[in-house]
Order: sequence, then structure tokens, then C-alpha cells
Amino acid sequence: VLSIRNLHKCYGALEVLKGVDITAHRGDVVSLIGSSGSGKSTLLRCANLLEDSQEGEILFKGEPVRWSGKGLSRRPGDAKQVLRIRTNLSMVFQQFNLWSHMTILQNVMEAPVTVLKRDPKEVAEAAHRYLAKVGIGDKADVYPAQLSGGQQQRAAIARALCMEPEALLFDEPTSALDPELEQEVVKVIRDLAREGRTMLIVTHDMKMARDVSSHVVFLHQGRIEEEGAPDRLFGAPESERLRGFLSATQ
Ligand code: ATP
Ligand code: MG
Repeated sequence: VLSIRNLHKCYGALEVLKGVDITAHRGDVVSLIGSSGSGKSTLLRCANLLEDSQEGEILFKGEPVRWSGKGLSRRPGDAKQVLRIRTNLSMVFQQFNLWSHMTILQNVMEAPVTVLKRDPKEVAEAAHRYLAKVGIGDKADVYPAQLSGGQQQRAAIARALCMEPEALLFDEPTSALDPELEQEVVKVIRDLAREGRTMLIVTHDMKMARDVSSHVVFLHQGRIEEEGAPDRLFGAPESERLRGFLSATQ
């Protein structure tokens, strides 16, 4: 579904991604781990067209997602493409970014109704279904401030699901949460993985990465230092840097 090849990304003179290749087939759960500043968030943002990139290729269902050196907005038809990509690659952020003046139900319904112009009645049905699925079916009519962090993040996941995306991108979905609340969100992600959802997950939670992933990528200073099946990568890391990283995160 998603294929990233030889991706390079610079912020001015700073090269943050130095030729990264990642492929996620349908149903794959790819976890991205690595120390702070290694470029994990940048990679997700490039895949979701929140950033441009300088070299390489991103293909989403075979469609190129970037152009070398050119701002996306300058090309005719790009706004539509951006919309299509963001709809199909729905992103969940570390800070849940819910609208505080809207109820949970309104938050979940907002983009499908206003951006995708879907039928509000159908969207409302789907929204209730997804809220129930993430375990907060009873919170539809309250405001974000009335929820715990874990519940807010689950609402954000329901909102992403309500776009009916092809794949989900998670950027540190549990790192703003206390350990007990974190587990509620991990459980939701594990359920989504079991369902066969395609996901790219940036996480510092090695237990979750080992548990839910089909493939784990260790990023170091903008390059893939090591990657592999979770049991192999965590059980028998080859690179010295990965060993150091893992022992520091135990
Ligand atoms: P963390 O684990 O702390 O979230 P990360 O792996 O997600 O780290 P990125 O956020 O991708 O790291 O950042 C990679 C590098 O790019 C860092 O050195 C950061 O300072 C730099 N960077 C990120 N965003 C920008 C920006 N908008 N402008 C300039 N530099 C940036
Ligand atoms: Mg980050």
C-alpha cells in the first residue's frame, strides 16, 4: 500500500532523512523506533504530505506522493491529491488535537462531513460504531476536557478511523499518557493490528512495538540502522547502536 524509497529530507542545511526505504503492504504493522531527533516524525509527516522532501519516492497505492524539489501546492490538482492522501493515510498525533469546543461525536464526524461531504446520518452511525469500538461509546456527547488523556487519544483514533482510511499513521500515540492510560490505547492499537489494519507506528514503547508489529525499523540519524521481524530485532539485535538504544530504553 505504502512504499517509501530512498527518501531524503532536509531542513535547510540539516539533512534529517538520508535515504530511507520502507514498505508497508496491506495488513502490515510497521513500527519505527529510534532516539529523539532520528527523523521518525519527519518521515511520517512526509508520507502524509505535511512536509515536502528533496529526493526519493513515496508511492501510495502506486501513486507518487511527492515531487522532487517542487512545492506541492504549486501544481494544479494537488489540493485534491493532498486530500485523497490525507484521507487514506489518517494520522494520529501525540497530542490528540481534538477541538475543545466540539463534543466527541462532533470531533469524530467533522472531517468526513465537512471535508469529504459524506452523508451526516451515515457518518454519525459510523462515528458511534468507532467510539464503541475504542471503548468510549458512552462519551459521544461530552467535550474533550471531560475525558481522561487515554479517552481523548481513543477519541482521536476513532476520528481517524471514521475517515475510513486505507492505512493509519501513529506518531507516539501513547507518549503523552500515564502508564495505566497508555495500556488502554495500546489495547486499541493491538485490536486494530489483529483486524489486519495497515499501520505505521512511531513509538517509544518497545513492548508494544514487539507485540503488535510485523516489522520493526530502527532509525538512527536519518538512516535505517537495522530492521527486521520484531522477535529477531528485539531478541537478537545485531547493530551496536540498536543494542545500546534497547538497553537504554529497558
Ligand atoms: P522525537 O523522538 O524527539 O520525536 P524524531 O525522531 O521524531 O524525534 P524529528 O521530529 O523527525 O525526530 O526531527 C528530526 C530532526 O529534524 C531533528 O534534528 C529536528 O531538530 C529537525 N527538525 C524537525 N522539524 C524541523 C523543522 N520544522 N525545521 C527545522 N528542523 C526540524
Ligand atoms: Mg517525533
